[in-house]
Amino acid sequence: MSYIEPAPLKDRENPFEAMMSRFHIASQLLGLDDEIYNVLKNPAKQVIVSIPITMDDGSIKVFEGYRVIHSNILGPSKGGIRFDPGVHLDEVKALAAWMTWKCAVVDIPYGGAKGGIRCNPREMSSGEIERLTRAYTTALHEIFGPDRDIPAPDMGTGPREMAWLMDTFSRSQGMTVNSVVTGKPLVLGGSLGRTEATGRGVMVSALAAMERLKINPYRATCAVQGFGNVGSWAATLLAERGVKVVAVSDISGAYYNENGLDVKEIIEYRNNNNNSLEGFPNAEALDGEEILYLNVDVLVPAATEDVITKANAQRIKAKLIVEGANGPTSSKADSIIADNGVVVVPDILANAGGVTVSYFEWVQNRLGYKWTEERVNRRSDRIMKDAFEKVYNTALDYKVPMRIAAYVVAIDKVAKTYKFRGGF
Ligand code: NAD
Repeated sequence: MSYIEPAPLKDRENPFEAMMSRFHIASQLLGLDDEIYNVLKNPAKQVIVSIPITMDDGSIKVFEGYRVIHSNILGPSKGGIRFDPGVHLDEVKALAAWMTWKCAVVDIPYGGAKGGIRCNPREMSSGEIERLTRAYTTALHEIFGPDRDIPAPDMGTGPREMAWLMDTFSRSQGMTVNSVVTGKPLVLGGSLGRTEATGRGVMVSALAAMERLKINPYRATCAVQGFGNVGSWAATLLAERGVKVVAVSDISGAYYNENGLDVKEIIEYRNNNNNSLEGFPNAEALDGEEILYLNVDVLVPAATEDVITKANAQRIKAKLIVEGANGPTSSKADSIIADNGVVVVPDILANAGGVTVSYFEWVQNRLGYKWTEERVNRRSDRIMKDAFEKVYNTALDYKVPMRIAAYVVAIDKVAKTYKFRGGF
């Protein structure tokens, strides 16, 4: 039997503390009651499951899985499931809280949750991943439910895993329950527009910010860190709207061309190259981290958390950062970035397009009806634009960066709802 040890958090900022430091600032600005502060600072529920799986070679490996429900004050909790060797309880707790704030910022009736399994899906066969997904779902079938807690994809998971989750949950209920999970394949009740939704929301908020900053998209350059679901769609849609994408990166490194990259060509290359950008021609290969320091108008971190820290924030030259990833900027970097006049569209706003269309998927499943892609995009664009304006205006009112303003908008909504609902 082997056991995957937790990845150390040593060199990284504790993500839960990073979330809490912003939560604290926004709570003070709002003059939040101690009672509500204490309710919201702790997750409502944290579940850890131990999952033994028979591997293809016949050995048994035990994986650790998590599901954290931060809040269900606004409605059933919602949040993705991450398969990654770095999954850690503190990280899942932070991501769950971020989901609460994210849903509140875009004004959809969900609380926040997150889940994950510490595993390396890149080293596992499809059969091993399927057994792991089904065992995790079985272990948590009393937590999940369309009116209780609704998972979705995150790093390392996608429609395939969501289909297994939906099927396993449905078997436990003795009926098909497709609204228990979002990000499903279309034939299982997935929504048109869901795959590109997070990247599309990044594009909508980037364009809204560029309008406010008077940056002409047709003259703007952009670098995108991470070329998975979020990064590749953000790059595609920004390029379609005239922005010159000069650099992209993934775990293999960064690829730069000052004359602009052909995003379609990069996607095709990645799809034919085992999902990696390694060896991409028509670009200069750079060290992965260098993508953060390029002289571009817009930087989209869309890989993972804690990539912009107090150690490197000073080197950022972009005028605008649009956070496709969750938590790419450490809390200690916030003030350095703000002092340098860099505007940040924060994660809980910029990447909320995904959960918005997830909500539409759940609505469609419950209606037993399918919307056109045009309707999905139109409605999600409107939600993203409205949320952007609300956060931007709150930032002006309170004279704070947009990140704190987004927390102010979110905490205010959850706190007001809590006051009406009350406690015991
Ligand atoms: P993904 O697994 O599809 O892609 C991740 C990409 O980042 C890959 O290209 C990978 O090679 C790259 N990467 C990982 N570590 C890196 C590093 N250190 N440097 C450079 N590149 C690195 O994941 P995704 O779904 O695109 O999610 C990316 C981020 O966006 C995560 O923070 C996730 O929580 C967040 N997010 C995702 C969604 C969604 O709908 N998928 C929604 C909201 C937020």
